[in-house]
Amino acid sequence: MTNQAVKRFKCLIEGCERHFPRKSAIHSHIQTHLEDKPYLCPTEDCNAAFVRQHDLRRHMRIHSGTKPFPCPCGKGFARGDALHRHRQRGICSGSIVPRRGSPDPGHRFEPY
Ligand SMILES: [Zn+2]
Ligand SMILES: [Zn+2]
Ligand SMILES: [Zn+2]
Repeated sequence: MTNQAVKRFKCLIEGCERHFPRKSAIHSHIQTHLEDKPYLCPTEDCNAAFVRQHDLRRHMRIHSGTKPFPCPCGKGFARGDALHRHRQRGICSGSIVPRRGSPDPGHRFEPY
């Protein structure tokens, strides 16, 4: 209960139970509510957000079930390394690597 006093700022959005230590942190958090995914997972350290409440409910099962490693895209994994591999592929919104869309840096067009 010692860190309870640190997080003083509570999100004012209905149904959201997130607390934040600084006002600037809550500001950027509220931006996610205002964007296209208003339903945020209330679980600490989970950044999953959803367009519909139905999707959030389904996602919440991850935390209580056998898949305690959630990806921000909404998927859950039973093991941390499985989540890590999933995110490294760059196929979801929570990926840690950018998509490979840029041209090969070793190949350049020759000038005229
Ligand atoms: Zn919130
Ligand atoms: Zn979550
Ligand atoms: Zn993902």
